[in-house]
Amino acid sequence: MTCFYCKGNMKESTTTYMEDLGSCIVIIKNVPCTKCSQCGEVSYNGTVIRQIEKIIEQLKNSLTEVAIVNFSTNVA
Ligand SMILES: [Zn+2]
Repeated sequence: MTCFYCKGNMKESTTTYMEDLGSCIVIIKNVPCTKCSQCGEVSYNGTVIRQIEKIIEQLKNSLTEVAIVNFSTNVA
């Protein structure tokens, strides 16, 4: 797999995903991804994206301002 932007090598890695929902900031640690060794561009596969959406959906209803979760512990 090569990078969409710079055609560099994409390597399997983990990253910290962050999303600002307005009233709440969600931080998901240890999200599996592929990362470009050249420019650092990160991409997620479909399964991971669906899981991120699920986690965010659950956290949306919580009243916490900053929610920090670990990706791996949230995969059933
Ligand atoms: Zn790149």
